[in-house]
Amino acid sequence: MNASEAMDRATADVVVIGLGALGVSALWRLAERGVDVLGIDQFAVPHAHGATHGKTRLFRTICLEHDALGAWAQLSHRLFDALSAETGKRILDITGGVMIGDPDSGAIRGTRAAARRLGLEVERFDRDQIAARWPAHSDLAPGDVGLFDPAAGAAFPEAYVEAALARARSLGARAIGGVRVTGIRPEGEGLRIDLAFGSLRARQVVLATGVWLQEFAPGLPLDPVRTSMTWFAPAPGFALAQFPVFIREISPTLTLWGHGGIGGGEIKVGLGDVGVPRARLDPAHIDRGIETRDLRALEQAVARYLPGMGPRPSRVDPCVINRTPDNQFIIGRLPALGGRLIAAGGDNGHAFKHAPAIGEVVAAITTDTSPPLETDFIDPGRFARVLA
Ligand SMILES: Cc1cc2nc3c(=O)[nH]c(=O)nc-3n(C[C@H](O)[C@H](O)[C@H](O)COP(=O)(O)OP(=O)(O)OC[C@H]3O[C@@H](n4cnc5c(N)ncnc54)[C@H](O)[C@@H]3O)c2cc1C
Repeated sequence: MNASEAMDRATADVVVIGLGALGVSALWRLAERGVDVLGIDQFAVPHAHGATHGKTRLFRTICLEHDALGAWAQLSHRLFDALSAETGKRILDITGGVMIGDPDSGAIRGTRAAARRLGLEVERFDRDQIAARWPAHSDLAPGDVGLFDPAAGAAFPEAYVEAALARARSLGARAIGGVRVTGIRPEGEGLRIDLAFGSLRARQVVLATGVWLQEFAPGLPLDPVRTSMTWFAPAPGFALAQFPVFIREISPTLTLWGHGGIGGGEIKVGLGDVGVPRARLDPAHIDRGIETRDLRALEQAVARYLPGMGPRPSRVDPCVINRTPDNQFIIGRLPALGGRLIAAGGDNGHAFKHAPAIGEVVAAITTDTSPPLETDFIDPGRFARVLA
């Protein structure tokens, strides 16, 4: 029997397609429930071709994107910690984080409201206190305030993927890298999953294919776009130790974020993405070249507001995100193929901190049990008209 024939005979109760942050989370949480689960990715994982690479992601439980997400991030925090303890991998570094902006800005008002909802304390700093405590931040407006969230920090995406995969395997899950799924079709009571070579059979499929989601769920209103990761080398004398993760809303159309003081070297800085127009990408032909026009706005902002860095980036790496019309994830059963497909996508560039919770919700949906979190706002059913 050759490899292709062996594949044709392979079956799993659930196949997870895509092993980025969301797919490995589903694999791990399904394996924890004792489900016979197999994960598959077109690349060897972890890899740098999707959305889950680049060493760090901002982590916080004070989430501005939706009222319910604080509880999601809290569950993720517990699961990140449990996974670290089980695998010995460092996945989170809680250094605290500061949100800076006008008291009426979305960043400050949203942080206050989200902290209140979670019953968390955030310390308030006025402009002079910000300048004294975090001197890297320059050209502060007279009315700027800073809110320090002691529970924020950085998460490490590649380490997480490796740890979740290792834990899932130790629980009996199977995972295959370097094999592309080319189609999914009904077969008897289940589904046949066609691969670049051979095929698999499963009762249900979790679609965690990132910007490639529309290939299998063409009705979903998704907008895959490119958004680069950019690092700057601090100039001599830059106080790296006084530079925690931050989000700084300079104006309604200009937000800077960054992860500093991690790894002791380069600092990752980016521009806020929500609402920023970006060209839709073709997932089949992702342009990975870097053009100076991608960087100009960021370089100008860094030169003015963080002048102790740069002036030019030390490293740039393309990344991708999948936008939805309401900036919320799409997680749940799709009506096609008898409801046997479960989508886990629409990440909108803020899903890493929620990945373990997303895995838990996907595992609950797949096993027809109640998710432990509020899920109405991420249900694909909200796009019922386009899915029908
Ligand atoms: C620049 C940038 C900064 C970000 N910052 C933050 C942050 O600070 N905090 C935060 O929480 N989030 C952040 N995010 C978002 C976060 O990184 C993503 O939401 C998350 O990584 C998405 O993971 P995913 O599993 O959906 O996608 P991916 O990691 O892209 O995984 C999809 C997988 O599916 C596989 N696949 C696709 N098609 C097929 C196929 N046909 N067959 C087999 N395999 C297939 C791909 O190979 C890939 O491995 C950021 C994202 C970017 C781009």
